[in-house]
Amino acid sequence: MLLRANTQLELYRFANKVAAFVLIVFAYSCLTASVGLAEETSLPQERQIITSEWSYHWGDLPKDNLNNQWDYNNVQWKQTSTPGNIPGRTDEKIVWLKVDLPQKGWRDPYLFITSADLTIQAFQNDQKIYQFGNIDDQGNSKFEGWPWHIIRLPDNYQNHSLYLRIYSDYPYIGLSGEISIGDRFDLLNEVYHRGIAGLSFTLIVLLAGVISAIMGVIKKDRGAAICTGLLSFNLALMMFAENELSQVVWFEPLFWRYVAAFCYFLVPGFLAGIVLAWCKDKTPKVAFGVLITTALFFITVATLSTFTDFNFINAYPYFDLLFIILVLALVLGCLKQFKELGLPGILMSFGIMTLFISLLLDMLSAHDLIDWIGHAGQWGLVSFTLTSLAIYLVQDWKQQIALTKLTEHLEAEVEVRTRELQSNKKQLEQLAREDFLTSLLNRRAFSESALIEVSNAIRFNHPLSLLLFDIDHFKEINDQYGHSVGDKVLKAIATTSKESCREGELVCRFGGEEFVILLHATDSDYAPILAERLREKINKIAIQVDETTVSITASFGLICMNTPHQFEGSAEQLLEKLLAAADKVMYEVKVSGRDAVKVCDLSPDIELHARVS
Ligand code: GH3
Ligand code: MG
Ligand code: MG
Repeated sequence: MLLRANTQLELYRFANKVAAFVLIVFAYSCLTASVGLAEETSLPQERQIITSEWSYHWGDLPKDNLNNQWDYNNVQWKQTSTPGNIPGRTDEKIVWLKVDLPQKGWRDPYLFITSADLTIQAFQNDQKIYQFGNIDDQGNSKFEGWPWHIIRLPDNYQNHSLYLRIYSDYPYIGLSGEISIGDRFDLLNEVYHRGIAGLSFTLIVLLAGVISAIMGVIKKDRGAAICTGLLSFNLALMMFAENELSQVVWFEPLFWRYVAAFCYFLVPGFLAGIVLAWCKDKTPKVAFGVLITTALFFITVATLSTFTDFNFINAYPYFDLLFIILVLALVLGCLKQFKELGLPGILMSFGIMTLFISLLLDMLSAHDLIDWIGHAGQWGLVSFTLTSLAIYLVQDWKQQIALTKLTEHLEAEVEVRTRELQSNKKQLEQLAREDFLTSLLNRRAFSESALIEVSNAIRFNHPLSLLLFDIDHFKEINDQYGHSVGDKVLKAIATTSKESCREGELVCRFGGEEFVILLHATDSDYAPILAERLREKINKIAIQVDETTVSITASFGLICMNTPHQFEGSAEQLLEKLLAAADKVMYEVKVSGRDAVKVCDLSPDIELHARVS
């Protein structure tokens, strides 16, 4: 579990680093792109944008009956400055364009057309030199996609006008984007150059999507992660389908157009999904509306274009309008929720708005309402995906701060608890060694400490003295005055014993009313004096019960051993012998009348030499 958490953390840190790297790469590409744009304003010498006057003719030209060729001369051509926005269309599906191409001595002259609505044939000198899509003699054709066109021009192209026969059942007809002439290599070089620049945008969007998804999955924020990831993949796919290089990879313009269109139709749905995932606590109803409308639109267009004559590209103008309404409704309807989210909310509205504005600019230029501005949409898409990445980073940053605070709090808490535990442990250890009534050492603690004392005495040949005493007729005290008085007597004797001993000497309640003291480095000359002094002090203890004073005496057995190193046995054995001997001597005092100290020297060969004081 811990291992998994660590791996996740490592992975997450790695994803964060990659995210930061992507942001840096993006900043760098912005810089280089702006330099590139500046360079683009001065076109290389090799190619030339067509700025000549165009002529147009609505409907098909008549045909020369003799040679079945188009008759270019017996019709009236009208002038137009652009081949894209040709005036005076009624319900015509065919327009003819005529242009005289400039001459500049190209070795391998080609004509480049960014886009044509919709299918196109090119003629020069009665020769059909190019065709995209099939246009029959009656002027019928069908949509085949929106590729760029590169048309090989005949060697003597400058001596003849170029005629273009264009079919469209779409609201727009004609040519759009840049139309230029030059050597094939230079024209293709320009297209690839643009394609690769677009591809780098696509890769950034894709990478940002992958990172967002990974980070989201790690952070268990699955809903937002899946939506952001899917939207990024969707946008990347749409960008690639619209990229100049997609038709180089696979020349299926209609397929790529399907991909681009349906990816585009899904964008508001994913945006609504992201908003729903981020505003989990307060679900904005408008987001549901956007989600459902997107789904309905997508399903309707897919069904109509599969089962009827309806062409999906005709859904574009409707969707453009719907897109504006849905995104504006989404942003305005969720403003309150975004505000509540704080910085991530502000970033989210910024991301959606940049995406919206860039796609709007793209849309306006596609509808010829503003000048052709190229990759405005791509900037918006990149900006949006990077913003959603930034939202994760901001969220993460917030979480890191909260986590640090929590860790600090927990560390402080742990320190307090550890200190409490240590003091409790000390108390418990003390309680385990103490007799609960008198607070003297209990028998177990005494045995442990006495063993150390005895073994040191053997080792360093310190004299050993052990005093054992038992209160006289204690049962009678209990019987006469009650157990509480008995307890008081026990406590008083414990206090007196403790006070009579030096610091570190072992004083123990050995049994009910029996006590034992191991005197530290005290020989047989001094120990009896201490024992006698204690006996006298106990005699003097006066416990008042009503009017009477309880008098207390005790019988003492004292065992002394001046040369313990001569003892041939273990410390345990010696302690046992000392206790047994003391008990024996004390019993002798009991028998001989109580309230006295009997001293015995214990020689190493364990013989008792009694002295009675
Ligand atoms: P002797 O002089 O022969 O020692 O007689 P004694 O009455 O002191 O000895 P005995 O062994 O007959 O009685 C000991 C009594 O000590 C019996 C028991 O109830 C009492 N006792 C043991 N522990 C406690 C205690 O913790 N509190 C009280 N109040 N009495 C205790
Ligand atoms: Mg006793
Ligand atoms: Mg007793």
